[in-house]
Amino acid sequence: MDYNVPNENGFFGEYGGRFVPPQLEDVMKEITEEYFKIKDNSDFLEELQDLYEHYVGRPSPLFHAKNLSKKYGAEIYLKREDLNHTGAHKINHCLGEALLAKKMGKKKLIAETGAGQHGVALATAAALVGLECDIYMGEVDIAKEHPNVIRMKILGATVVPVKSGLKTLKEAVDEAFIAYLQDPVNQFYAIGSVVGPHPFPLMVRDFQSVVGKEAKAQFTTMTGKALPDNIVACVGGGSNAMGLFTPFIKEKNVNIYGVEPAGRGFKTGDHACTLTYGTPGVIHGFKCYLLQDEEGEPSPVYSVASGLDYPGVGPEHSYLKDIGRINYDCINDKEAIDAFFELSRVEGIIPAIESAHAVAFALKLAKQRPGESILINLSGRGDKDIDFVIDNYGKDYGISR
Ligand SMILES: *Cc1c(COP(=O)(O)O)cnc(C)c1O
Repeated sequence: MDYNVPNENGFFGEYGGRFVPPQLEDVMKEITEEYFKIKDNSDFLEELQDLYEHYVGRPSPLFHAKNLSKKYGAEIYLKREDLNHTGAHKINHCLGEALLAKKMGKKKLIAETGAGQHGVALATAAALVGLECDIYMGEVDIAKEHPNVIRMKILGATVVPVKSGLKTLKEAVDEAFIAYLQDPVNQFYAIGSVVGPHPFPLMVRDFQSVVGKEAKAQFTTMTGKALPDNIVACVGGGSNAMGLFTPFIKEKNVNIYGVEPAGRGFKTGDHACTLTYGTPGVIHGFKCYLLQDEEGEPSPVYSVASGLDYPGVGPEHSYLKDIGRINYDCINDKEAIDAFFELSRVEGIIPAIESAHAVAFALKLAKQRPGESILINLSGRGDKDIDFVIDNYGKDYGISR
């Protein structure tokens, strides 16, 4: 299978590209040039590899979940990104972006954060590499995600409260962009997923693809088989999914599944199934499938997993959907919470609610494909979610505080 995207302008088919004001166009060109200079440079790659190994704790293990396998009838494997330093896959691209910013002579990393996961991973990378860090966060999210706000502050980052509009993620992105425009020379906007203008979807994918490369080799060592039959990951912006999927895209015998959040169900409007129900549009400097109203304004979206509720999605996923290489499906809140408890109780692993969407889908798939292997990207751990889960769902599972 021939697969070679994006093109030199950052387009994956009709998606991606760079839809930004003229001042940012030049900055993005400069970042692209610098990234292409270092991307295959052995000194840079060694430095990053050294951090992956001794700082993040890579390679993350591949775990054969034998209890689940026995219960559901397929051979289930978990790629343990939950065991990384800071508890999720985001540190993989934050370190890459921080090193690039440092090499470009930038003074400060800036970014938006919703639930605070990207903010914490970036504040961590900034502390390590020795850069200042400003994280833009809506006031509503600041109140909701208190532990992550404290973590960022302890790590030395400045959390900038965003007071406009709904005071959540979209406004935080808007304000971070405004701040970025004021000083794109000293600041570096470190985007938190495979989204945003070119080169970010490409760059974040490259940094995350360490996940898939490791998983592929580990699977073969562990099973003696060349390839898993099925691989599964949850999709918010789509970075953990692209990380796992990239080395498998050309392997046509591997079925690939991306899982979006159906929230309270499509009919309620409270969901973020962008690839299933969206239409092509432009958001935050790039073209993708988008949940939007008649004027092209992004629709309000919802999921029990704050890391998944984004109205857009990575341009490469949009392209992979159109060419039919990846199957995209949805899992609702209830199914995700069930899987959160199932993995906790059957394997002793508490997953992030985001990752629980991938687990829920894989357990359904297992019943349809008995005996086959299913490799799931367990993108993060659930420590951040325990209070929320107990307060909102504890009684359904017989637990109270
Ligand atoms: C942020 C986050 C996600 C969603 O982001 P992607 O870019 O789609 O990977 C998924 N899982 C965890 C644990 C996260 O923190």
